[in-house]
Amino acid sequence: MNDLAPPYVGRFAPSPTGPLHFGSLVAALGSFLEARRQRGRWLLRIEDVDTPRTVPGASESILTTLTRFGFEWDDDPVWQSRRIQAYAAALEQLKRSGAVFPCACSRREMADSALARDGSRRYPGTCRDGLPPGRSPRAWRVRAEGVIRFDDTVQGPQEEDLARDVGDYVVLRADGLFAYQLAVVVDDADAGITHIVRGADLLDSSARQIHLQHLLGVPQPAYAHLPVATNDAGEKLSKQTLARAIDDQRPAIALVAALRFLGQNPPPDLGQASLQEVWSWSRAHWRLDKVPHLRHAVAPHC
Ligand code: GLU
Repeated sequence: MNDLAPPYVGRFAPSPTGPLHFGSLVAALGSFLEARRQRGRWLLRIEDVDTPRTVPGASESILTTLTRFGFEWDDDPVWQSRRIQAYAAALEQLKRSGAVFPCACSRREMADSALARDGSRRYPGTCRDGLPPGRSPRAWRVRAEGVIRFDDTVQGPQEEDLARDVGDYVVLRADGLFAYQLAVVVDDADAGITHIVRGADLLDSSARQIHLQHLLGVPQPAYAHLPVATNDAGEKLSKQTLARAIDDQRPAIALVAALRFLGQNPPPDLGQASLQEVWSWSRAHWRLDKVPHLRHAVAPHC
């Protein structure tokens, strides 16, 4: 980093949908070690904007596990559920600039539309030029226009044609909740995040987030998407695939497994070392360029 570059600010942003599992430990570890290697700050954000998916007690459990593992964050954690006003202000800005439009369509009405890149239904554009007579708005969507290109530090050059690959996307949902895409952009900008290191399951979200950064006039962070941990059947570890919670009692073993998953080649007996020794090895040896350039890989059985 040269003297003119902004200081590095990284973050880990778990959704409190369950306890920390191996996949989220990988994202926590990669983002933390890279921030420390760059002598940067590392912030924590609890992504509880999607309240119906939030599991009571999960945030506390994630924070407890991170503490037991020896992660240290540099400021008080941010809770998305307390930042609704900031999201509302961003939506107002988008409304004023004409970047968004109200949409009356229900999921059922879009059931026949073409598929977007992530397999969801691409918005057919029904309300783009005004609501059909007699219909009231349910959601607000961004006009998806242009091709977004960026260079991901791990996954390489990326390109997404927003209209073709994604379609007009939601920023305020029909249930009145702000969408993840808007919340994450507003939060990262307000926290001054310069580098995003996270799982590659979010690689396809990055183009929308960069698009929103342009529309809101906020800086674009650098992106590095780590391989996502899957089970033997190739499914992303999550509560839905019944990923096991990380064993809090044996943090050194889990950390070493995560280091190995991230291509760092820890010594074979490091799992038997003390937690402190695991951290000093990790801080001394972490290299983002050793991370496999894969979108997913099978998690070890640990
Ligand atoms: N909350 C998201 C998750 O737990 C991560 C969001 C992000 O890192 O941008 O998958």
